[in-house]
Amino acid sequence: MDYPTFFNRDCKFRPGRTARRGKRRRLAVVAGALALTGGLGVALLPGTGEAFREPARPGTLLERPLPLPGAVAGKPVAGRPSPGRAAAAPPAVSTSDGRLPARRAGGGPSPAVRRRLALTVRPGDSLARLLARQGIGARTVHALVHSGPEARRLRRLRPGDRIELALGRDGTVLALRYPLDPERTLVVRREGAGYEARLVTHPLERRQAHASGVIEDSLFTAAQKAGLSERLTMALAGIFGWDIDFALDLRPGDRFTVVYETLHRDGARVGEGPILAAEFVNRGRVFRAVRYTDPEGRTGYYTPEGRSVRRAFLRTPVAFTRISSRFSLRRRHPVLNRFRAHRGVDYAAPHGTPVKATGEGRVVFRGRKGGYGKVVMIRHGARYVTVYAHLSRFARGVRPGRRVRQGQVIGYVGATGLATGPHLHYEFRVDGVHRNPLTVRLPPARPVPARYREDFRRRTASLVAALDTLRRIQLARRD
Ligand SMILES: [Zn+2]
Repeated sequence: MDYPTFFNRDCKFRPGRTARRGKRRRLAVVAGALALTGGLGVALLPGTGEAFREPARPGTLLERPLPLPGAVAGKPVAGRPSPGRAAAAPPAVSTSDGRLPARRAGGGPSPAVRRRLALTVRPGDSLARLLARQGIGARTVHALVHSGPEARRLRRLRPGDRIELALGRDGTVLALRYPLDPERTLVVRREGAGYEARLVTHPLERRQAHASGVIEDSLFTAAQKAGLSERLTMALAGIFGWDIDFALDLRPGDRFTVVYETLHRDGARVGEGPILAAEFVNRGRVFRAVRYTDPEGRTGYYTPEGRSVRRAFLRTPVAFTRISSRFSLRRRHPVLNRFRAHRGVDYAAPHGTPVKATGEGRVVFRGRKGGYGKVVMIRHGARYVTVYAHLSRFARGVRPGRRVRQGQVIGYVGATGLATGPHLHYEFRVDGVHRNPLTVRLPPARPVPARYREDFRRRTASLVAALDTLRRIQLARRD
C-alpha cells in the first residue's frame, strides 16, 4: 500500500537565518501570493492601485473656500450658530486662509454649493459609513449608488481612495466626484429629485521610464534607491518569482533593470502603468522578460525568445503556511509509529484555509479515500496528476470531469482521514511516479503561440533593445 505517512514535525525553513532577512521573506510571501494569483494578477491586487490614482492631497478632510453667490450667503454654515446679523456678510465657511471667492467657478456644479469635502476611504469603509461620518443619511447613499450603471463602482471603495462632495446649504449632496484611476473619474450630480452618474475620462499620455539597481541588502532597499515604487517592486518580484526565490536566492551584487510605463496628463506625471520589460541578474544568471499582448488580447510576460516566464504549476497550493513534513522515502508515522515513505508535502495551515489547484487541469476524483480523507485529484495533460488530501470540504463546482484553472480554489484545509491536525497533504505525480513537489522541475506555461511569434518579435524588439542599452550603461557605471 503506497499510502503516505504523516509526520507533523515542525520543519521550518532555514532556522539559522537572521531577522535581517525578514524583509526579503515578506517580499517572498508577497511574491508567492502574487504567483498564486497568477503572474498577471499583479496589477489587480488590492492595495496596489495607489500609483494609478491622482496624487493624494494632504489631510483626510479638506474644507476649501467655495464660490458662493451672495444670494445664499446670508446664513451661516450648519453647526456654527451666528447672531443672525450677517445678512450681507460673507458666509461663515471655515477656511484657514480666509480667502473668500467672490465669483462662481466656471462650469461649477451649482450656485447652491455651500461646502466641499474631500474624504479619504478608511479600511472597512462603505459609502454609507464614509458619508455617515459627515451626517449624510442612508436615503442619499441609496440614491447615489443607484444613480446609474456607472455608480455601481461606489459599492466597493478601496481604502485610500478619495471622494469629493459638494454640499448644498441644507447639507444636501449636490455632487460627488470619485477619481477611479488617472484616466477615469466617476461624477454623480443632482438632477431634479435624483442623481445622475457619468464617467469622465481624461486623455493620458503614456511614456516609458526605466530604473536600475544593485542589491546590497534587500530588493526593497535597492528598488527604493532606484526610484521604483513598491507596486512595481512587487510586480518585478512577481514576474521573476517563478525562477528566483526572493527569500533565499538573492545575493549582494544581484542587479535589475526595469522598463515601465508612466502616465501623464497635461505634462504632469499622474501615475504609472505596467512593467514593459525587465532584467534580473541573480548570482550571475540572467533572467529577462517582456510584456506582450497577443492579437486575441491575452497579456503575459515572456522571455525574449517567446517562452512564458510562468510555470504550468504553482509551487505551493496554499498561501501563508509552514511546511510540517517534507517528501521523504523514510519517515516515522505519528499514528502508526512505523517507518514509511512520505510521498508528498504537508502544509500546516489553519482549518478552512483555501486550497488552490496548482495547475490547469481536469478533476478526476473528488470524495473520501481511506487515510486521505476528503481528497481531490486533478489530471493535467497526459503526464501529471496532483493530489490534495485531508480537506475539510470541497469548493463548489469541483466534480469529476470539471476543468479547473491554475490558482482556482478547489477545497479547504481540514484533518479528515489519517491526520493528527489540520494540514494539507499535497502530492505531485509525473507519469504515475510521486515526485517531491518542492524540488521537481515544473514545466513552463504555454509559450507565445507559433502563429503570433512574428508579431511578438516585431512588437517586443524595441523593449529587448532597451534592456541591452540599459545593461551597457549599468555595466559602464560600475567600472
Ligand atoms: Zn502528508
